[in-house]
Amino acid sequence: MAVVVQKYGGSSVGTVEKIKNVAETIIKRKNKGDDLVVVVSAMGDTTDDLIGLAKKITDNPDKRELDVLLSTGEMISSALLAMALKDSGYDAVSYTAYQIGIRTSGQYGKSLIEDIDGNHLKESLEEGKIVIVAGFQGINEEGDITTLGRGGSDTTAVAIAVKLQGVCEIYTDVDGIYSVDPRKYSKAKRLSEIDYEEMLELASLGAQVMHSRSVELGQKYGIPIYVGLSNSETCGTVIKEVTNMNMESKPVTGLATSDEDVAVTIRDISNDTNVLSNLFEAMASRRINVDMISQTAPVEGRVNISFTIPKDDLKECLSVIRTYASKNSINIDEEITKFSIVGIGMKTTSGVAAKMFRLFSSNNIEVKMITTSEIRITCAIRQEDKLKAINLVAEEFKL
Ligand code: ASP
Ligand code: MG
Repeated sequence: MAVVVQKYGGSSVGTVEKIKNVAETIIKRKNKGDDLVVVVSAMGDTTDDLIGLAKKITDNPDKRELDVLLSTGEMISSALLAMALKDSGYDAVSYTAYQIGIRTSGQYGKSLIEDIDGNHLKESLEEGKIVIVAGFQGINEEGDITTLGRGGSDTTAVAIAVKLQGVCEIYTDVDGIYSVDPRKYSKAKRLSEIDYEEMLELASLGAQVMHSRSVELGQKYGIPIYVGLSNSETCGTVIKEVTNMNMESKPVTGLATSDEDVAVTIRDISNDTNVLSNLFEAMASRRINVDMISQTAPVEGRVNISFTIPKDDLKECLSVIRTYASKNSINIDEEITKFSIVGIGMKTTSGVAAKMFRLFSSNNIEVKMITTSEIRITCAIRQEDKLKAINLVAEEFKL
């Protein structure tokens, strides 16, 4: 008998009615004979509401106390779900992180799971209970309640699946992972499977379907993660190691765009590695997250250097670079889109970048900057070209 670890997101348990529906879904599965551990998020917007409450007390809530507060959201939903199950005559029990020893390390608000007391969970399962776990929370070395970062219940679920060697199913408000965000490209296809690495790249590019650390954990321990709608006939997406690289497989799996960055160009700066490293060190020390970097060829020892940063970091960035460059030599471009294609097939297929650049050049799409990884190509383009670029590239690579 398999242990099935399911996770229901905030929208699936957003109301009392929905919690009752989830209970029915769980009961059907239990009746098939599976052992069930169910991880829940907080109801609907509860976490945002709790943050709002804290902000009404102070602009700068104490981090320890904020985690205590935020952890209560998942305790409410887990208790209500266990109640609903018991009311239908099923033996269920809800647990907090403390009760099942979800030990964490690191900072409040973004702590990491170190280990879980699997025996406690197993005992309850052996007693025939449906186990409900409050997601998103843990207990650190000091015995304090911590949280795992926004969306962290996914990671709770995968960590439990790892510990119990079970299967992991994440139920959310989307019916799976798409090749392109369907709101941006209506012909986008739902993927039946996607590799862990591709999913991580897409997540880092802003596809916020899954908590990234949950995917990393699945990859590390080889636990496939199913993502989809609960109670639905449509099949979702399995995140797993995709090895089947036959000639039919596509070089590009997904496409993502983001308008959250700005491009900063410093003109006519000395082509001195010392200057450049000082500049980027200064930004790193202020935790400014530099992403794409490009540099022109040196002319008489001078270069232009461009890079992208998140919009939120612009002010901080300008205060840093003004010590390296005069105001006139700094140019800010807020109208860029980061346009990325992702696919593990790129490891073994050549010419993917060439194809994309050909498409761009013959359609008048200016490429301002480029970065690549083994499985990703990202270009900075003009925001006004975004939709055109999405359509062209999605058609070309049959996304
Ligand atoms: N309730 C938390 C949040 O909204 C954790 C989660 O949903 O996974 O971020
Ligand atoms: Mg949530």
